[in-house]
Amino acid sequence: MSPRHSVVVVGGGIAGLAAAWELSGGARGPTTSTPRIELIEEAPRLGGALWSDDFAGRVVDFGPDGFLARRPEAVTLATELGLSDRLEPIGASGASVWLKGVLEPLPAGLVLGVPTDPRALRELKGLSRSSRWSVWRDQHAPKKFTANHDVSIGSILRTKLGGELTYQLIEPMVGGIQAGRVDELSAQSVFPALFAAAQRGGSLMKALKSSAATPGGAAAERVLGPLFMTLRGGVGSLANELTNQLRDRGVVLRTGTAVSALRPTPSGTYPWEVDTADTTTGASGVVVATPAPVAGHLTRLLDESLSRLVSINSASAALVTLVFGAADTTLPSTGTGVLVPLASEWNDDIMMTTALTFLDRKWPHLHREGEILLRAHVGRIDDRRSEVLSDDALVDRVVAEVRTLLGRVGAPSAARVQRWPQGLPQYYVGHQDVVAAARRALVPYGVRLAGSAYDGVGIPASIGSGRRAAADIIEFLDRSARS
Ligand SMILES: Cc1cc2nc3c(=O)[nH]c(=O)nc-3n(C[C@H](O)[C@H](O)[C@H](O)COP(=O)(O)OP(=O)(O)OC[C@H]3O[C@@H](n4cnc5c(N)ncnc54)[C@H](O)[C@@H]3O)c2cc1C
Repeated sequence: MSPRHSVVVVGGGIAGLAAAWELSGGARGPTTSTPRIELIEEAPRLGGALWSDDFAGRVVDFGPDGFLARRPEAVTLATELGLSDRLEPIGASGASVWLKGVLEPLPAGLVLGVPTDPRALRELKGLSRSSRWSVWRDQHAPKKFTANHDVSIGSILRTKLGGELTYQLIEPMVGGIQAGRVDELSAQSVFPALFAAAQRGGSLMKALKSSAATPGGAAAERVLGPLFMTLRGGVGSLANELTNQLRDRGVVLRTGTAVSALRPTPSGTYPWEVDTADTTTGASGVVVATPAPVAGHLTRLLDESLSRLVSINSASAALVTLVFGAADTTLPSTGTGVLVPLASEWNDDIMMTTALTFLDRKWPHLHREGEILLRAHVGRIDDRRSEVLSDDALVDRVVAEVRTLLGRVGAPSAARVQRWPQGLPQYYVGHQDVVAAARRALVPYGVRLAGSAYDGVGIPASIGSGRRAAADIIEFLDRSARS
């Protein structure tokens, strides 16, 4: 009799945990044909970037604080885990942008920061005449741009709408999602709607407007549900609950253990062996859900194209969470936060803060009378200044910058710094080709890639990627058993 299948998941971030969930039967649960599953994680705890902890009398997320709810994966997983009654919709909308030293409300009708209605830009006082002219030109005599193959987001935007809108309005939003620069990020992978609009030719703004032709505002809310959600108890509770239920299903969960090698063993009981410093696990299939460079190192001997994964760079970021007294701090009257364009000048220097999130306005369950819970985002792919500052020095610097951004800010009554080294993968121009070649190379093997380095940064995309990789492995094992 052939032995029971054994599948190893390398990496216990949300993608690896979601892969283990799918391998163990997903919503339906395990059956007699469910393989033995072992998940191996290098860090002392599971969940990767998902991390909630007690802070100033509430449970606060020190990694992602919410997720897109109009993509199904995160909401579906939370529901399967029995957490649907803890889902909370975002409690505010809109944001402000720091434009030439003044906070201005972001205009309506932006698609990832790109304006689709020139009239909305009239409200932005800090915008130059030449930007207003670029917008008019895009509507009436659009500049030509040829995009037969992948190009940077910045190259499309600069040509079509000019540098000021590109760097002051659009980069803070689209670049902020992965702490990257629009001049390096792939239009095809990061902003497919922009890429398609550029390929179509004509007015970028009109094309984006028609591609985003879903109802906006309250109508969208009614038809599509809220755009973002969180979990009361923290986004980190998604990983915690998943961990508990995987353990109940008999999944072997190992932490504090790095996988050092993945070896084909054609003559062994299992076709693969997965090595750590102390153990070797035989595997019929492997899901590699680590950052891409680790996946590249583990698989590169299988095919040259896999070694290109090593070059998928990631940006480091730090989140500085602060509590201020509501009596001596003034926030903009509406909105969930502030976007700060890169290269914004500050006291003979450049601001480190790239965005502020008003956490207790965004998520009502975090609100406490008399307090403001605020988070500053620091760090970009080409700005590593925060890494050399101690936590105390970083808090001092950020508080001083918040004072500039908001005007009236008291002394914080609590502060915490959470650093995320190499936390945000960068999808450079040509990213899809690198990923597609790596995936093609793995087709003959029972090894699949999962995680935020491939199919989109963000919790829903990472969950989707983990579950698809697991489903692929199950199909691969079924096919091999039949042949
Ligand atoms: C600061 C920050 C804020 C974010 N905010 C949001 C947000 O608000 N909303 C949202 O949707 N997304 C957000 N994201 C993105 C989201 O958190 C990620 O896309 C997602 O968590 C990635 O999950 P993952 O499993 O692919 O990767 P990771 O969480 O990085 O997991 C990979 C795991 O592999 C492990 N590993 C590495 N090497 C080995 C090895 N050799 N052996 C074993 N294990 C190994 C690592 O320790 C890690 O735990 C944010 C990310 C960051 C960093």
